[in-house]
Amino acid sequence: DKEIPFLPRISVYHYLFPFKTYKSKHRTRFLYYPEPTNQEKPKFIDASTGKFLTRSKLEEVTKTLATGLKIKGIKQNEDIGCIFGMNSLNWVIANFACQALGIIVSPANYAYTPDELLHQLRDSTSSFAFVQPSLLPTFLKAIELDPSYSIPDNRIYLLCDKDEKQMILEKGNETEKSWMNKFQCIEELYENEKPGQPKRFQDGMEEKTAYLCYSSGTTGKGKGVETSHHNMTSQVQAFNVSYEPIKYHDVILAMLPFSHIYLIVCFSRTLHQPLTCNGTVVILPRFEELAFLKAVEKYKVTWALVVPPMLIALLHSNNVSKFDISSIRGFMSGAAPLSSELIRSFEDKFKHIKLTQGYGLTETTPVTHVMNLEESKNSLNDGKIGKLMPTYQARLISQQTSKDLNFGNGEDRGELWLRGPSVMKGYWKNQQATNDVFAKGGWFKTGDIATIDKRGYFSIVDRVKELIKYKGFQVPPAELEALLLTHPEITDVGVIGIYSREQATELPRAYVVPKGGLSSLPTSEDKAAFSTKIQEWVNGKVANHKKLRGGVVLLDQIPKSPSGKILRKDLRAKAIKDEEER
Ligand code: AMP
Repeated sequence: DKEIPFLPRISVYHYLFPFKTYKSKHRTRFLYYPEPTNQEKPKFIDASTGKFLTRSKLEEVTKTLATGLKIKGIKQNEDIGCIFGMNSLNWVIANFACQALGIIVSPANYAYTPDELLHQLRDSTSSFAFVQPSLLPTFLKAIELDPSYSIPDNRIYLLCDKDEKQMILEKGNETEKSWMNKFQCIEELYENEKPGQPKRFQDGMEEKTAYLCYSSGTTGKGKGVETSHHNMTSQVQAFNVSYEPIKYHDVILAMLPFSHIYLIVCFSRTLHQPLTCNGTVVILPRFEELAFLKAVEKYKVTWALVVPPMLIALLHSNNVSKFDISSIRGFMSGAAPLSSELIRSFEDKFKHIKLTQGYGLTETTPVTHVMNLEESKNSLNDGKIGKLMPTYQARLISQQTSKDLNFGNGEDRGELWLRGPSVMKGYWKNQQATNDVFAKGGWFKTGDIATIDKRGYFSIVDRVKELIKYKGFQVPPAELEALLLTHPEITDVGVIGIYSREQATELPRAYVVPKGGLSSLPTSEDKAAFSTKIQEWVNGKVANHKKLRGGVVLLDQIPKSPSGKILRKDLRAKAIKDEEER
């Protein structure tokens, strides 16, 4: 019911220049810079080092780094850059320098193992990379794993400043020193360069891909989600009119990983959107309770993006009272379900913090539904994800009939299908997977089951796709199943997520059929030892968020449909029953 004045047809890089207008046949104007811009106000502050970037400095360094990259031979339409590091100022610089050159950025999760990283590097066809020095062992191992894939040394850039590099040269071991001598850091790339002109933005260019974040979608391994400039800018615009806007005096804490679109919420909310209102972004490498509390007190943080487990951590924290966190006015939770109990307990303890939630997917850049702060006051804040944002359309499709929901027949839940300006272009170089998630008319099938009430508020009640979310991170069950099946003592397996109320997250659990069946492990001690062995074996091979925290349960048979599909519903029902019987 709210109108968006226009959907911008600009590059995400243009967010750095608030007062310039870019004429095109669409008559692009900037309507969303309400406050006078102070070019010298800190824009991005690194809470761990205290270093900061003003808007004008950001403009200068990204343009000079763009020149440095050009000199290295990095070209638009040819090269794709992977960023592999925790949140940092250099991450922001590397990203916007690529955007200035019109180069696609593929951000990788810093928790990846070499195998997981290699999948993204190869699949995205990344041809250069920015790597945090402490992650070099993982990165170099990843590219060693496949002799047919490589990134030359002069295309691997360290995601750090010169002084950090110098410190490693002085204090590091021999291997680390040799790496520091081999690779340039991004400051060295830009220090002697002159600012280049960012790529001129021509009509049609807004449809070009800006980001390739990885999502497993409804099934299988991670796929590159092609997010265009227009996807991103229309999302920022829609969000600005539907949610209480972030204002000039707001200080936003960015502690979820930049590699996830939510921080893309995380990108658009913390990297892009604050540029539209000139709020300040305080960056933490990752969420850690004390670092969070210190940063809130020191920088007078007003707003943050969170996932439900962070709320649990704060709720049970003994440290909160030792810090002044009165500056916080709101949190937006997303990426995973937020229960009404958690909302109530949190708001009881932190009366000055308004808690709202948003919903979306990597594939929708990401937010399509949001409960805004005003609405949350009107006792609507009971776990609902809010209303559809302006410019988006939704359908609920019956799982029984595959038709639009017939409310008259008492059907109240269906698969959520979405259409809107920020729905992705498709999966990178994967037409089949793209076809599978789009229905006729460009409707994107979310794989989530939703309900809608009379006032237009949606709730997410179930998930039909094969996806587990651990603390907001994606865990594709198919990936864990494929790994488990390589174990010589396993004949079959099914992986599901079990919900933990205490931790407010799902935990990945594997149901496993041992070779020789259950009878090959006669005593309960044998079974327990086997489960532990498998759990440890998996945990040693996957990123932290994919560990089998929900345990390994042994079965004689995995429930399957006649066509051989794992009946995850049955496994989930079994998990609930076992829990009740315990
Ligand atoms: P991702 O692409 O990693 O952001 O994952 C998207 C998925 O996260 C959605 O399809 C949902 O299953 C889940 N999700 C995101 N936000 C919410 C929310 N507010 N409530 C429930 N599930 C959510």
